[in-house]
Amino acid sequence: MLTLDFHPTGRHFLQIPGPSPVPDKVLRAMSLPTIDHRGPEFAALGLKVLGDMQQVFKTRQPVMVYPSSGTGAWEAAMVNTLSAGDHVLMYETGHFAALWNKLALRLSLKTEVMALPGPDAWRYGVRADLIEERLKADKAHSIKAVCVVHNETSTGVTSDIAAVRRAIDAAKHPALLLVDTISGLAGADYRHDDWGVDVSISGSQKGLMLPPGISFNVPSARAIAASQQATLPKAFWAWDEMIEMNKTGYWPTTPNTNLLYGLSEACDMLLAHGLEVVFARHQRWAEGVRAAVKAWGLLIQCADPAVYSPILTGVMMPEGVDADAVRKIIHERFDCSLGTGLGKIKGRMFRIGHLGDTNDLTLLGALAGCEMGLKLAGVKLAGAGVQAAMDHFSSHAAAKPLRQAA
Ligand SMILES: *Cc1c(COP(=O)(O)O)cnc(C)c1O
Repeated sequence: MLTLDFHPTGRHFLQIPGPSPVPDKVLRAMSLPTIDHRGPEFAALGLKVLGDMQQVFKTRQPVMVYPSSGTGAWEAAMVNTLSAGDHVLMYETGHFAALWNKLALRLSLKTEVMALPGPDAWRYGVRADLIEERLKADKAHSIKAVCVVHNETSTGVTSDIAAVRRAIDAAKHPALLLVDTISGLAGADYRHDDWGVDVSISGSQKGLMLPPGISFNVPSARAIAASQQATLPKAFWAWDEMIEMNKTGYWPTTPNTNLLYGLSEACDMLLAHGLEVVFARHQRWAEGVRAAVKAWGLLIQCADPAVYSPILTGVMMPEGVDADAVRKIIHERFDCSLGTGLGKIKGRMFRIGHLGDTNDLTLLGALAGCEMGLKLAGVKLAGAGVQAAMDHFSSHAAAKPLRQAA
């Protein structure tokens, strides 16, 4: 018999970088009865969430919501804007960028992977200067799209998307800019319009604090124009019918009604707190977690402080220590889930998520689990990480307190 014990005692510490902990308020909103998706009430919900998500993406463009995981939104972005054999530049920051490249190959696109040389390639963000150089060399404008991951969830690196846009403009190149902000959105600053992104791609189960199951595309006017010429087959993912139907608050196919209730609630929370407050909160949590990792004497996967992720931190293991063995101890003994190393860094590092419904004390609990688990696994720690994080959180008050007297 399959036994799923959701509550051995106390709350499970879901510290993977997505799916992230979902606020009870959002879970409760999702438990409301499913309504007629062609009825009058639905349109009000549809228009509300589409409007809210424009604020979250910082855009005036239409936001599209698919009933799929993030991977579906990658595919939607490509099949709507590209044609078979199109040359696309895929910047490899880590495992998710590599998976996106694999998807592009399956779609019969001709991909060119740009990556830093050497074993430390996955420790840095996107080098916009290299993109600029490559685009300048592409005199025939054969490259149709530049694809970059905003927050590389496999490593904990948040790349500078505005710099990529400046690079494309400096090269005077017409390539479209496709950005995966599946884990970046609503945890790190993101500006679809200001940054000149042509297609933004996101998902529900990371910064938006929702369960997995819905994903997003936001096009630019140029991307919409490209979608009218692009010839990769598209049916379910086609933007045209979606944009048309969404104008009245409806979808061409059955939308994920209950997840949209959750999305409405999550947007209310994010927008009531204010996105800038939410971003600052994540930055501060990330600082506390990094203080712990540094005190342990371990290396952070991201080697460039300018692009440390506010959403997750990758912790590298000393030579000879299996990161998954450490994770297993922490899970079994302390009921805390940490992110596994992905792709070529599997076993070499684990990831601590600091996103979703969390706070200082939750993170301190998770760090305590890590510290105990590391010691149990025989890792020699230089010092007390939990103490360093406590010192950080107590000496750096959040810009906006979580609670204030009325
Ligand atoms: C989670 C994630 C994905 C994959 O999304 P799925 O929902 O698993 O399909 C892609 N890119 C990034 C950066 C992610 O964090």
